[in-house]
Amino acid sequence: TADTFKQIADKDKTVKAFLALNEDDAAKTAAAIDAAGVDADKVLAGIPVGIKDNIVTDGLTTTAASKMLANFVPIYDATVVKKLKDAGMVIVGKLNMDEFAMGSSTENSAMQTTTNAWDKTKVPGGSSGGSAAAVAAGEIPAALGSDTGGSIRQPAAFNGIVGFKPTYGRVSRWGLIAFGSSLDAIGTLTRSVRDGAHLLNAIIGEDERDTTTVPRDPEDLGRNIGKGVKGMKIALPEEYLGKGVDPKVAAQIEKAAEQYKAMGATVETVSLPHTKYAVAAYYIIASSEASSNLQRFDGIRYGYRAKDVKNLTDVYVKSRSEGFGSEVKRRIMLGTYSLSAGMYDAHFRQAAKVRTLIARDFENVFKDYDLIMAPTTPTTAFKIGAKVTDPVTMYMNDILTIPVNLAGLPAASVNAGFVDGMPVGLQLIAKPFAEATIFQAAAAFE
Ligand code: GLN
Repeated sequence: TADTFKQIADKDKTVKAFLALNEDDAAKTAAAIDAAGVDADKVLAGIPVGIKDNIVTDGLTTTAASKMLANFVPIYDATVVKKLKDAGMVIVGKLNMDEFAMGSSTENSAMQTTTNAWDKTKVPGGSSGGSAAAVAAGEIPAALGSDTGGSIRQPAAFNGIVGFKPTYGRVSRWGLIAFGSSLDAIGTLTRSVRDGAHLLNAIIGEDERDTTTVPRDPEDLGRNIGKGVKGMKIALPEEYLGKGVDPKVAAQIEKAAEQYKAMGATVETVSLPHTKYAVAAYYIIASSEASSNLQRFDGIRYGYRAKDVKNLTDVYVKSRSEGFGSEVKRRIMLGTYSLSAGMYDAHFRQAAKVRTLIARDFENVFKDYDLIMAPTTPTTAFKIGAKVTDPVTMYMNDILTIPVNLAGLPAASVNAGFVDGMPVGLQLIAKPFAEATIFQAAAAFE
């Protein structure tokens, strides 16, 4: 662990990915593992891992990159953290993100600006930007992130690493600070595909504390790694290579399709016709759920409380006005509006219907195909400051990742080469609980 913390001290000066370090505790855990000797079945024992700062860690500050939680020290571990500890992993610290996971560049953090591992003038993506940049910069080999609309896959793409968002219900959300509960998924960011499978294997499983988790027989999600893609049927949706996608990025994905064909897969163009409505539906659903989930931050129970208050209303209004950043407030207002009595039918109900149509688009394709391949993002990483003042442009950056969350599907981003020196992400999407197929195809490409 001393080496890991030296790496972090050195590289994090420019990357600025860590919000908290767990140095004493990590040293103790590592020493205990050394003393006990490594059990051959425990492939992850002694390996350092970083945790996105919206996943609660017992005794270690968890802020969700918000002023609201700047001094919040949880008294329990999220299920995923407990599972990593049981696997013998060493939790090294907490990673920067967009406040409450709302954003695509980590610039919405109330704490600090994280930089892309390949170019410090560019964003690391978001919202799990700290997790991705720390792994890509070589500070740590692996990290956990969360993905509500692309927040694992997009930063993985921008930093040239492997990001995996599992099927909704595969991994417990207990201890994840909720954003959009019907969309949120905890997943992994690693340098290699195999590492991703090991890390995801460690955190999956039904959890009585999260009733949306699905009971499944034990399985090794990496079991098909090395089998190649011969005979695999891969779909390439035309909507994901069309307008708004940088032609150089599209060309890189078409090159990846040729590589898959050369390895014996068939790749055919398909249509996901409702893709164009996904961003609009997502921002209504995610913001509605967020407006409800964030009600708990009232200045009373825990978190930030404003000074100079005259009455109870003041406590609520001032604490929330001062504690939340502007993007979070924008989402709360949008969500509250969409759910309000007069607007619910026109907005929330419509969005829920669109969500069903998007899920059906995918179901239709998966009748005939094993996998969908597409770019993860329309462009490579953009400059810090370029989009932060223009929310709609920022929202459009997620157009290729959002449909997957609306449909609850598993998807990964792996590196597909570089355009002008910046990494391009190849997104691989499968039907529910077919993570093993994604790992199989991802490993063949690596
Ligand atoms: N960028 C998207 C948003 O701002 C997705 C975020 C996420 O996946 N947490 O909502």
